[in-house]
Amino acid sequence: MDNCLFCKIAAQQIPATVVYEDDAVLAFKDINPAAPVHLLIIPKKHISTLSDVAPEDTEVLGRMLALAPKLAAEHGVAVEYDADGQPTRGYKTLINSGPDGGQVVYHLHMHVYGGARPWKGMH
Ligand code: AMP
Ligand code: ZN
Repeated sequence: MDNCLFCKIAAQQIPATVVYEDDAVLAFKDINPAAPVHLLIIPKKHISTLSDVAPEDTEVLGRMLALAPKLAAEHGVAVEYDADGQPTRGYKTLINSGPDGGQVVYHLHMHVYGGARPWKGMH
């Protein structure tokens, strides 16, 4: 896709701090982090929004979602359980879709936020 920022990152035409890559998925650090851990997970294929996902894209969506807890663990924010079985730490996954959803970059991406609060502009 011409002129798509995240396609250019996927094609290594624009630098990013890549934390994971495979044949279909890329993850990198958000350039303007809203939390101590703020990663973006994208499909390498250009998909504009979640509303543009086609039936053949469900596998890559599943891979993006399954990657989130792995990256959270690598960045020290995975959900863990204390001696009483109570969950600790954790992270937020978020996909903004369209203008009312707060989407700014029109290449599907999932945010992964974690780390000590407060986070910028978020609950
Ligand atoms: P959204 O509002 O969901 O479209 O979020 C777009 C996100 O992309 C924002 O959190 C930006 O900080 C982030 N972003 C924009 N440009 C870059 C870039 N070149 N590298 C990494 N993250 C970026
Ligand atoms: Zn794109």
